[in-house]
Amino acid sequence: MSARLEDYFSPRDRGALKKRGITSVGELFRFFPRRFLVPGEKTPLGDLPLGETAIIQAEVISVETRRMRQRRGTITDVIVHDGQRSMKIAFFNQGWLDAQLLPGLVVVFAGKVEEYRGQLTLNSPVWLNRDEHDTKWTPEELNSPFPVYPRVKGIAQTRLWKAIKVLLDVADPAEFVDPLPQSVRAKYDLPDLRTALNDMHRPTSTAATERANLRWKWEEALALQTELVARRSAYGQLVAAPLLTVGERSRRFDDDLPFSLTSSQVRVGKEIAADLAKTTAMHRLLHGDVGSGKTVVALRAMLMAVDSGAQAAMLAPTEVLASQHFASIEKLLGEQMALSPLLSGDDQVRVALLTGSMPARERKQLALDLATGQIDIVVGTHALLSESTMFDNLGLIVVDEQHRFGVEQREALRGKGGLTVPHTLVMSATPIPRTVAMTVFADLDVSTLAEMPAGIKDITTHAVSLADHPHWMDRILQLIDRAAAAGKGTFVVFPRIEPSEIDDPESGEPTGQMRQGIEEYLESLENSPQLASRRFGLLHGRMPTAEKDRVMHAFSTGEIDILVSTTVIEVGVDVPRAVMMVIAEADRFGIAQLHQLRGRVGRDGSPAMCFLLTEFSEADESFERLRTVAATLDGFALAEYDLDIRGEGDVLGSSQWGGSSLRHLSVLRDTEILAQAKAEAEPIIAADQFLEDSPELRELIQRVLPADAAHFIEAD
Ligand code: ADP
Ligand code: MG
Repeated sequence: MSARLEDYFSPRDRGALKKRGITSVGELFRFFPRRFLVPGEKTPLGDLPLGETAIIQAEVISVETRRMRQRRGTITDVIVHDGQRSMKIAFFNQGWLDAQLLPGLVVVFAGKVEEYRGQLTLNSPVWLNRDEHDTKWTPEELNSPFPVYPRVKGIAQTRLWKAIKVLLDVADPAEFVDPLPQSVRAKYDLPDLRTALNDMHRPTSTAATERANLRWKWEEALALQTELVARRSAYGQLVAAPLLTVGERSRRFDDDLPFSLTSSQVRVGKEIAADLAKTTAMHRLLHGDVGSGKTVVALRAMLMAVDSGAQAAMLAPTEVLASQHFASIEKLLGEQMALSPLLSGDDQVRVALLTGSMPARERKQLALDLATGQIDIVVGTHALLSESTMFDNLGLIVVDEQHRFGVEQREALRGKGGLTVPHTLVMSATPIPRTVAMTVFADLDVSTLAEMPAGIKDITTHAVSLADHPHWMDRILQLIDRAAAAGKGTFVVFPRIEPSEIDDPESGEPTGQMRQGIEEYLESLENSPQLASRRFGLLHGRMPTAEKDRVMHAFSTGEIDILVSTTVIEVGVDVPRAVMMVIAEADRFGIAQLHQLRGRVGRDGSPAMCFLLTEFSEADESFERLRTVAATLDGFALAEYDLDIRGEGDVLGSSQWGGSSLRHLSVLRDTEILAQAKAEAEPIIAADQFLEDSPELRELIQRVLPADAAHFIEAD
């Protein structure tokens, strides 16, 4: 017998398998059942439990495929009989079943029992016909968990399952070489690879599949932690120029600061200074809640570089963010910012902004100034990464929202340090749950700003269902009016610029009804009697920059009472007189985003209010999220909650690990395995940094982590 996919699947089948990521026998083995049906006895057709999973064995009486009248596609009706009763089972778009479910065959069907037109039926069940050679199912088989595979187009479950089982018997021993070290398996009682694969595809008990699942988690945990430990160890060997931690510019900056640093900022500043003084490159993550004062911390680190005669670069993912950072730095430096490279005093700092949209001539001049050391600090976008950007002496890189940059991009910047490697500080705009910091970012040292400068802010948040309480809007409008009368400003955030058509939630078809655009929403507010005497402004991303600046300015000086805007105000915007925030259709925003938006009010410490409006009813699940945001101002708690409800694929999807590479492991729940795996990874890397003696482990890392993340250890 042979063990290649070609011997079991036609080219067309292999095309379908490839769509599911299966191109080899090894990958087919790792195509695990979506779930297992746990049978008791087979259920007679007369006793089907509605809403539950049942396994039946019955004879096919007739099979017939026809086109559907309403929709595109076909429907195959199979009528079966178990000796006492008959039942109709419908399959959609599987016309080929005509040739498979031949009348007279005795077939086992497993699926969820549903009611259709008053009759009980199984909803798209999986099915198996009795093996040609077996005369009947053995009692063990009928009482073992029954694997249900994700659907592969054109390949029936039976055939897929059978092929996997045969291949498990005949595959090359190389397919079963175990990437988990024997010592680890022994210590944590994990089944070896062959056993675990058998437990997935021919399970004998639920306990066996659970034990196998633990092993798959371990594979992912060990791959992740080994890569992280290897990275950390590689970083630890990169030679960097040590940077002074006190000098003229740092001293003047600290002396001139209009506020005193929080104790968190002081502590993190010391952590960074200690790293910078070393001859190995810093790799540190800085995170903290919205408004915790990360920019000051980053700027102080950059000034240390400048005091040492080195340059610092701050990389931001968008032009807007780069401009905002530049503006914050400008504001924080005040008179300490040099007017030009030519006019700078000893303790002054020359700062520049570099973006892709800069005129070519200016950009050229800036490149020259950077290369000749006439600029101390540059804030920029991807333009910083281009080959034409060269530094005289780059000592420190600050990467904002580092998850938006790939490893290669960060490496490109790191390569600009010349003979030594620049120190690196990466920043996250939002707090990172502890579990994620421990795992996803375990290759970095982590600094947390745990404290808020102004103390706990006084923002009261209310989640408001306009469906349940339409008249509450009157009250909110009165509050806005009252704030305006007291000289305070209100942000009204709206989720879209243009009107958009509402789709039917069931069919996805357009309904012809429209949702308001931001201008109509503004108009409806302007026309409300409560706000008749108030002045409104409009702000969104498609307005010309000059116009945006004008509106923002008018709002901060109080010429405008109510600013209706899109999320352009999400980051950076600092208007101390704003004390009210009303977010329309709040259910459309993410939790972190709502929290970030709310951080825009009460900036001067005065009591503020935030209203999260929704058309959903209070009983709706969408309302629960809003209720949670309303219940706490703790960004860390919200980050944990977000990770929990959104699922990790989405959260980690925006991290350095890319897509949903972790299929089995939960960084939120499997913290114990992660900690154990880390302890196992450390001695492995200490003994063999590049895993030269563990090719299987190297391959495991390649398989588990996306290509650009599995970086330090590359399979050959
Ligand atoms: P974030 O961590 O969200 O990036 P910022 O760095 O933008 O926060 O800081 C938010 C605001 O708080 C800014 O206006 C900043 O100048 C101010 N700030 C930072 N540190 C302090 C402090 N120790 N005391 C008072 N205000 C501070
Ligand atoms: Mg910031």
